[in-house]
Amino acid sequence: MSESTLRAEIISIGDEMTSGARLDTNSQWLSRRLGELGIEVEFHSTVGDTLQHNIDVFRIAAGRADIVVATGGLGPTRDDLTRQALAAAANEPLEFRQSALDHIESLFSKRNREMPERNKIQAMFPVSSDEVFNPQGTAPGIDVVLTENDNRCRVFALPGVPAEMMRMFDDTVAPRIMAMAGGQANHIEHFVMKFFGTGESDMEQRLGDMIERDRTPRVGITVSAATISLRITAIDRSKDACLAQIESTRQEILSRVGDLHYGDGEDYEQFHAVDSELQQRGESVVTVEFGYAAQLADWFATLGPTPSHRGGMTFAELSDLASFLGVTPDAALEQLRHQSSADWLLAVDQYPSLEGSNEAPLPAADVELIVLSPTGERFSTTSRIGGHPSIIQPRIAKAALAWFRHLLRENTDTVSATDKAAR
Ligand code: ATP
Repeated sequence: MSESTLRAEIISIGDEMTSGARLDTNSQWLSRRLGELGIEVEFHSTVGDTLQHNIDVFRIAAGRADIVVATGGLGPTRDDLTRQALAAAANEPLEFRQSALDHIESLFSKRNREMPERNKIQAMFPVSSDEVFNPQGTAPGIDVVLTENDNRCRVFALPGVPAEMMRMFDDTVAPRIMAMAGGQANHIEHFVMKFFGTGESDMEQRLGDMIERDRTPRVGITVSAATISLRITAIDRSKDACLAQIESTRQEILSRVGDLHYGDGEDYEQFHAVDSELQQRGESVVTVEFGYAAQLADWFATLGPTPSHRGGMTFAELSDLASFLGVTPDAALEQLRHQSSADWLLAVDQYPSLEGSNEAPLPAADVELIVLSPTGERFSTTSRIGGHPSIIQPRIAKAALAWFRHLLRENTDTVSATDKAAR
């Protein structure tokens, strides 16, 4: 079977999803991952915790897909019915597997807890199925072939807990799918590069053929609150071969859009880049935010104690702060920088109020960004920023960080050795 002919369906199981209590993020994640493997996802199905409905959904999927990845319903409670539904859809009984029970018991004993009797159900499998090892939790996954209307379909059922399901997919399911797709390549490596400073369409234009679906290695683009991620997925015979593919693609990407690149890694944000740049320089910043958000302070707080951030302050208006201190606005900011012993000050003036925005996009408004340098220089720029209320504040904060990074690059050697010694 060639890679391009494989069709997939994703099934999300649980009353939580059908009732709307929880968003089905597993299907989104799985669709992306399958797409990266070159597998086309044709259907997403969602079903509640009713046995017959589960059997129906598995049978329908088995009749039209080559691969099904299902999540949820593998827990030990009575409403967890995925294993029973799979056994019924396969027309076979469940059997007990001692090795699975040993793993479940060992997890309980590591946590110094006795295994409740009901967890034994998690060691039951449809007789023809294989296990999918779950290194993090008690629910092993199930790998079973169903045949419906003469169509053979490989079903992978994984637990609903996102972290467990992701690890099991990457460690076990993806290699098995690649083996199904044929060929010798059975190793996958991912590499994520992060960018800020342009829109998705401009990025796509500059990347050109690099983001075509049939490119090797594949480069996927996603955007979240104006941050662009490029995910390189290399599939090859060995880890080294994958890493070599990634490196040459990375270089090519940098040659096209390197000016917008600020770092690597799924969770790497601009504030991490600022933190590491300042630490390398032995410098620090205090952030001051006016208006109706404290986004920079929030982000820097997630870093824990770091010598690069001297604190984050927030005030309604710069003019209020200035009159409170009895000085001009510029002198007020300089006073904050000085008194917090920071080398740099980064101020955002100001975040809009979201009150009454009613989920509608806010019109673009001028936001002034101010930086005071260690040598007492004042820089300022004005950005026109609008957008949906859910992303406008982070977008403003990201624009501030991008401009600050730019100023850091332009102003090296700002703190003299004597200044540092004096502090
Ligand atoms: P266990 O019962 O062992 O935790 P399970 O396979 O039975 O695992 P569920 O009980 O269905 O999984 O869900 C466990 C957790 O994972 C819940 O917090 C649930 O909200 C979350 N979850 C389940 N399915 C999804 C999904 N499709 N997207 C996001 N979260 C999900």
